[in-house]
Amino acid sequence: SAKQAGKARYATFDVAMRQLADNRMTLESDLRKALDLDQFYLDYQPIVSLDSGQVSSFEALLRWNRPSHGIVAPGDFIQVAEDTGLIVPIGERVLEQACRQLASWRRDLGTAAPTSVAVNLSRIQLMNAGLPDKLQSLLSAYALDPHSLHLEVTESTVMRDAQTAARTIKRLRSMGVRVAMDDFGTGHSSLSCLHEFEFDVLKIDRSFISNLSRGRDFAALVHAIVTLARNLGITVVAEGIETPEQLMLLQSLDCQFGQGFHFSKPLRAAIAGQFHLPPPRLSGAA
Ligand code: C2E
Ligand code: MG
Ligand code: MG
Ligand code: MG
Repeated sequence: SAKQAGKARYATFDVAMRQLADNRMTLESDLRKALDLDQFYLDYQPIVSLDSGQVSSFEALLRWNRPSHGIVAPGDFIQVAEDTGLIVPIGERVLEQACRQLASWRRDLGTAAPTSVAVNLSRIQLMNAGLPDKLQSLLSAYALDPHSLHLEVTESTVMRDAQTAARTIKRLRSMGVRVAMDDFGTGHSSLSCLHEFEFDVLKIDRSFISNLSRGRDFAALVHAIVTLARNLGITVVAEGIETPEQLMLLQSLDCQFGQGFHFSKPLRAAIAGQFHLPPPRLSGAA
């Protein structure tokens, strides 16, 4: 009967829900263990000057070496980490690791060391009133120039509580830390908020770059963003450059910096420190 069918469906639904809840609980307790057992580490993806081909910076990207799961990317656990508040201790670990890594590149590589590292911040971290002081003590502890630390936040992160976000960003910038708007174009911010929040860097979301060759509209959009940002004194980074065609188009649109698999995937720290692009990659001729 319809009633039985409904019951059966409900039972299946129930099982699925329970499984989901179980997975979440396992994930949460595994995340706690991961902190204790130090299973988090950072990979580093080069950010490249599209004019000179020089690596200008690295973005630190969180990885979890989860036993019997292999290397897990942030997409699979960041949400749960945020929902449970675990993102706070994880994020502190990330900031500390990134600073320590930059200091150790300085020590080992001297002037050949990367000049800056970009770290992603979640909304909870940005809203945490203790963030600026914590950063200040990290910078001092590792004797880092504040300019060499870049913090990436997304549009939705800043738009949720724009006033608090604006205040914190101002404070961070007054310390000398650079702030980047990540994934630009995917959220609901207006172009005016680029100016309002005083971002130093704007990262154009990968979706724009992957659509570049699909028609003049996307090129026009990217060109408008690049031009506007330049007039506001904001540095532009194109995310997710995968092909020589995309690179050439971005060069013709005067985009200053880029990042993506065309140059390099995120790398282990030991390899990233030694990473230099062979010149042909830049021309797109490789
Ligand atoms: P994001 O900050 O926009 O980072 C760029 C993402 O794009 C990275 O994914 C990177 O591996 C990927 N990517 C780079 N180049 C290409 C390309 O050419 N093609 C494609 N298809 N992908 C490319 P990942 O490492 O999985 O990170 C995903 C997101 O997780 C990040 O997006 C960032 O929002 C978040 N995340 C990463 N690390 C952290 C962290 O330490 N803390 C917080 N709160 N979030 C983080
Ligand atoms: Mg980012
Ligand atoms: Mg991004
Ligand atoms: Mg993203």
